[in-house]
Amino acid sequence: MNRLILVLGDQLSESLSALASGDKAKDLVVMAEVTAETEYVRHHPKKIALVLAAMRKFADRLRALGWTVAYTRLDDRENGGSIPAELLRRADETGSREVLVTTPGEWRLITALRDLPLTVQFLPDERFVSRGSDFRRWAKGRKQLRMEWFYRDMRRKTGLLMDGDQPAGGKWNYDAENRKQAPKDLAFPDPMRFEPDAITQEVLALVADRFGQNFGTLHPFWFATDHAQARVALDHFISQALPLFGDYQDAMLSGQRFLYHAAISHYLNIGLLEPLEVCQAAEAAWQQGKVPLNCAEGFIRQIIGWREFVRGIYFLEGPEYTSRNLLDHHRDLSPLYWGAETRMHCMAEAISQTREEAYAHHIQRLMVTGNFALLAGVDPQKVHEWYLAVYADACEWVEAPNTLGMSQYADGGVVASKPYVSSGSYINRMSDYCGQCSYDVKARTGVQACPFNLLYWHFLDRHRDRFSDNPRMGNMYRTWDRMEDTHRQTVLADADTFLSRLDAGETV
Ligand SMILES: Cc1cc2nc3c(=O)[nH]c(=O)nc-3n(C[C@H](O)[C@H](O)[C@H](O)COP(=O)(O)OP(=O)(O)OC[C@H]3O[C@@H](n4cnc5c(N)ncnc54)[C@H](O)[C@@H]3O)c2cc1C
Ligand code: SF4
Repeated sequence: MNRLILVLGDQLSESLSALASGDKAKDLVVMAEVTAETEYVRHHPKKIALVLAAMRKFADRLRALGWTVAYTRLDDRENGGSIPAELLRRADETGSREVLVTTPGEWRLITALRDLPLTVQFLPDERFVSRGSDFRRWAKGRKQLRMEWFYRDMRRKTGLLMDGDQPAGGKWNYDAENRKQAPKDLAFPDPMRFEPDAITQEVLALVADRFGQNFGTLHPFWFATDHAQARVALDHFISQALPLFGDYQDAMLSGQRFLYHAAISHYLNIGLLEPLEVCQAAEAAWQQGKVPLNCAEGFIRQIIGWREFVRGIYFLEGPEYTSRNLLDHHRDLSPLYWGAETRMHCMAEAISQTREEAYAHHIQRLMVTGNFALLAGVDPQKVHEWYLAVYADACEWVEAPNTLGMSQYADGGVVASKPYVSSGSYINRMSDYCGQCSYDVKARTGVQACPFNLLYWHFLDRHRDRFSDNPRMGNMYRTWDRMEDTHRQTVLADADTFLSRLDAGETV
């Protein structure tokens, strides 16, 4: 054998640069299910099942394409337990000392591979529109990195929704049209569901046995586990949900878990779909008059805008990004994040669907669970670990900038220009949650007051020195300052009481 080609569990793409640079006749593809990856956080069982089933099917696909694949299953007796150990084992077996790998999406693995006593060649991950060096060039010399400017460059680079050098329809961004409340009588298409095949069934039995105690329900398991199925799921979304995606992008409704969202991030992030393929499908639907421009634009922006932007930030900021805690928050993550009872209906909805689906949509992650953790002052490391564990789409390059940056402001404003905090009134406006809650969203003080109302002012008050000069937050401070002093003292005292009860493990 000539070289070892490492294919990781989130690199399941035939177009992978390591495969493109390899030689089917001489090189050996190495794939391994290892405990170091399945256990570095307590992943949701659905997430583990997705990755293992998709890996096994991708190995079969590569063999059918003529590759020789050395595949290690989690329960194989010789399993070395980690990616480096498996590479060393295969190197000893074959005498090969060279490894080709598409750069992993995580500093943890990059460092581990760099430390190997083998020659490891890292290749760029060409599945992304923007490579690390492009992003560094774009970021160089800019005072602030803002997604909107980056996104416009990505539109120009890809030609998506462009009319010559101008944006189709004359505007780059149609977000202002994308904040409608969802009426209850709308019909919501569910994401496409798939019956587990024999390979997936075998994985499900393994996962139930080894990871059945992790937070999250394994059954029913309906995810796509190969490219053909993921493409069916994408086409289903484009025809059924994309035509209303933009309008209700920020809405939340009790019992409606997906609304018009795509539920494809977990396929994109492991390589079953590719970002350009997805965006071109959305653009084609717009060109054929099946999807309005605001919906196609809003969707494409999430992928070539936000998704590429956060990846650029992750690699630009370096390995220590995940340990930042600029607001100096140290509270424990409450057991309610792991399913303990809560009276807050919005939190109960977001967390119970997370347990059952390994999915919550963006506004639930940002403005419900993330907002609560930030207002309560939870240690961002604990929040980061939670998001990394519980969502099927959680890979560190995308999860960390979203959680630590956008949601927890732990990076001091690299991703977000101000903290995403809100009182209950935002949740009330965008959802039907508050009508079914035992707290009163209109109450500002007292035991019935919505905890988001109490904690919102508590947050602003305790971080006054940092945020009162932020031009986007001036109005919030002016509103707070106009309130009667006695009212302000009552709000702060009630918030302190709430936080003490949270810390004591009481049901809140
Ligand atoms: C605290 C927090 C943690 C998050 N963790 C993850 C994560 O681990 N993995 C992940 O893929 N996304 C993460 N996101 C971003 C976003 O919530 C998910 O991508 C989205 O909810 C996935 O569902 P969907 O496919 O239905 O997305 P849709 O709403 O239908 O959007 C379409 C696609 O756009 C992309 N996208 C949308 N928003 C973002 C974003 N902010 N960053 C990157 N891509 C985006 C996704 O690929 C998504 O599939 C997180 C957001 C927050 C606030
Ligand atoms: S009242 Fe407050 S806690 Fe209850 S659902 Fe509304 S925002 Fe959530």
